[in-house]
Amino acid sequence: MSTTKIFERLSSTYQYEPTFLQAAKELLASVDTYLQSISAGDFEYRLLERLLVPERIITFRVDWVDDAGVMQTNVGYRVQFNSALGPYKGGLRFDPSVNLDVLKFLGFEQMFKNALTGLPLGAGKGGSDFNPKGKSDNEIRSFCRAFMLELYRHIGIDRDVPAGDIGVGGREIGYLYGMYKQITNSNEGTLTGKDPLFGGSLGRTEATGHGIVYFAEAVAAHHGFTLAGMTAAVSGSGNVAEFTARKLIELGAIVVTLSDRGGYMYKETGFSEDEISEIMNVKKSGQNLDAVTLPHVTYKAGSLWQVVTADMYFPCATQNEVSGDDARAMVKSAKLIVEGANMPLTLEAALVVREAGIPFAPGKAANAGGVAVSGLEMTQHASHYPWSRERVDSELRDIMKNIHQLCVENGQTNKEIDYVKGANLAGFKRVFEAMKKLGW
Ligand code: GLU
Repeated sequence: MSTTKIFERLSSTYQYEPTFLQAAKELLASVDTYLQSISAGDFEYRLLERLLVPERIITFRVDWVDDAGVMQTNVGYRVQFNSALGPYKGGLRFDPSVNLDVLKFLGFEQMFKNALTGLPLGAGKGGSDFNPKGKSDNEIRSFCRAFMLELYRHIGIDRDVPAGDIGVGGREIGYLYGMYKQITNSNEGTLTGKDPLFGGSLGRTEATGHGIVYFAEAVAAHHGFTLAGMTAAVSGSGNVAEFTARKLIELGAIVVTLSDRGGYMYKETGFSEDEISEIMNVKKSGQNLDAVTLPHVTYKAGSLWQVVTADMYFPCATQNEVSGDDARAMVKSAKLIVEGANMPLTLEAALVVREAGIPFAPGKAANAGGVAVSGLEMTQHASHYPWSRERVDSELRDIMKNIHQLCVENGQTNKEIDYVKGANLAGFKRVFEAMKKLGW
């Protein structure tokens, strides 16, 4: 057996799941030399093959009625990928692009990300093809309640603990958790990302973005520079992009872009925190970024990567948003590239960046701060004791520093640190060992 054989088999079984295969291919490449170095035999390769298959996939119909009184039907999913380290843990995504391929990829990535946090968290991912764009608050609530009416039977504080992701923020988690509490007549904190009023953690909203910047700081320090004074191109304008941008600005970096599905906003001298708030208000009112009017800020249709020159790039929108050609443009100026989203660089783009020798932090390491604070939220909820914002922030900083250290230890090459390999290998070893010891 070999990782090549395993990938061949996987590709023929799951030929209609290109996104999942992309993530699996990268992981297999990262663990290949390790398996050879421990003289892995048939047992190890078969266990690896097992790890590539989700433990359970649940799909269900979601029935709801829109404001016009029209019956609507969507598909809901939960991929319970791996529970070796703890209860399945991972977000719910509500977006028309959601399908089984995308959720399997996200659940698979979540497995290694959660393992890297050092917390007892298994991995899962779920969501629906429901499009929250343009929906009224009443429609969002109706959909969330209908979704939970099916999902509740598959989750639980020691079984599966969902959270948010694209299209699922604090409001949606509130509606989902409200329905869960009513159906189960319990206060078990089976969702994270909750409002601190009913068991959520302070700092969870900011955690993914702040964690990304703490990780970026650690990478920069390891390479002998700081983020202050550097220009940063950030993509996206959701939760991750917002708090990545805010933290970068706080640390003295110059954030020159934010983007949405239509295009990007650019300010040469960098956005202020107040301007970020203004942009977010426009977004929250349901408008696109082209509706923002700020002095010296331009909005252009299309992708920013081949147009905007910056010292640092933080793709924080979605998977595969950076192509090989984009990466070839980025490496001309980049001193640091940090994935804020899950796998925003295509395999080709990641290869271009790694071959150029530019420090490159993969999402599963850099954006682990969100799920890490979810883990801290579970601890707080279970112990019926909320922590201060400072305590949460200091734990988050430590976790991100540890993840960086794990990447350094596992990603050492002759010349530089291969963070992709480091993150994959460190996460993989934990899950793999646990599966062995559990007799799986
Ligand atoms: N959706 C986030 C992620 O990709 C958060 C998951 C969680 O908090 O469970 O990691």
